[in-house]
Amino acid sequence: MSKRILVTGGAGFLGSHLCERLLEAGNDVICLDNLFTSQKLNIAHLIGTKSFEFVRHDVTEGFKFEVDEIYNLACPAAPGHYQYNPIKTMKTSILGTMHCLGLAKRVGAKVLQASTSEIYGDPSVHPQPESYWGNVNTIGPRSCYDEGKRAAETIMFDYLRQHKIRIKVVRIFNTYGPRMHPYDGRVVSNFIRQAVAGETLTIYGDGEQSRSFCYVDELVDGLIKVMATADEFTGPINLGNPVEFTIRQLAEHVVKIVGGDARIEVARPLPQDDPKQRCPDITLAKKMIGWAPTMSLEEGLKRTIAWFRTIDLTQYHAPTPNY
Ligand code: NAD
Ligand code: UDP
Repeated sequence: MSKRILVTGGAGFLGSHLCERLLEAGNDVICLDNLFTSQKLNIAHLIGTKSFEFVRHDVTEGFKFEVDEIYNLACPAAPGHYQYNPIKTMKTSILGTMHCLGLAKRVGAKVLQASTSEIYGDPSVHPQPESYWGNVNTIGPRSCYDEGKRAAETIMFDYLRQHKIRIKVVRIFNTYGPRMHPYDGRVVSNFIRQAVAGETLTIYGDGEQSRSFCYVDELVDGLIKVMATADEFTGPINLGNPVEFTIRQLAEHVVKIVGGDARIEVARPLPQDDPKQRCPDITLAKKMIGWAPTMSLEEGLKRTIAWFRTIDLTQYHAPTPNY
């Protein structure tokens, strides 16, 4: 049955793919975004279609819509973006989530919160299961994001306990694919942009820190499946690809696929509090939603690189100087 769905942060990288998929399934979609870290370019093909509306609005201010489901994705996600105005990042996580929950309380909607693997901080348990409480610095440069997202999880569960709101908390691990902002400073977008331009790929630290990378289509599948679970299931639930790579291995993959003679070099020391390892335990996702990524990093990078080759970089403005 067709639903009325609000996607905050719907013009962003993940949000634009999610809006597309929800529309393809026959839903009515409201995309709310202040376009801080995205551009209308991501949703230009959806604007004007029958079941899609774009609302330019900031989630730190309240909003009201008659909807059945809310996906709360609004928040800068790249370190250079969320550290640009850390106080605003914290407000976006906390006030944005509260406004979604307040709306859900009024209209009886279900809320899915885009949480993050960052809530595990620099983890001392590896891979990270949902039962791990994390190792997070409360006062460092990443804290505005990590602690903002942790507080958002807390508010979700307080609204469940206090007001019986139907909630789903999803901890998303590093995801990549077409429509990543070319100037977001994240490792996949930086390496691809650099390799395609024949520039040197910039490794921070010794490149031995690890991440696991999930292709966007598979992640979006997971989000929709979590939203569809029975009301009793609240999460938190990890979604991410459990195959782990070092950042140096990622750089080597990108150079191999792009071809040419791009060099890889250590450009600067590891940023403060940069997690040394990160990999999801997805046992719960397999059990609850029958979900596990199948796309190899090589295939996902090929698709992402193909998209980066098609875009005109002059159409993109850097949201912050940090990339
Ligand atoms: P993104 O920056 O592309 O998308 C975020 C969107 O939110 C952007 O369109 C931005 O303009 C919008 N936004 C930011 N602040 C806002 C505000 N105050 N009001 C309204 N809109 C606002 O990033 P993304 O990678 O698509 O991330 C989407 C969500 O998923 C974020 O909440 C992020 O924390 C979470 N997440 C993403 C990843 C990942 O690897 N991509 C990993 C973990 C969690
Ligand atoms: N990184 C890097 N070169 C870059 C951008 C990032 O070596 O040009 C490193 C970064 O220090 C981190 C990893 O790649 O160790 C992943 O960074 P990203 O910002 O993509 O995500 P996050 O740190 O939030 O997982």
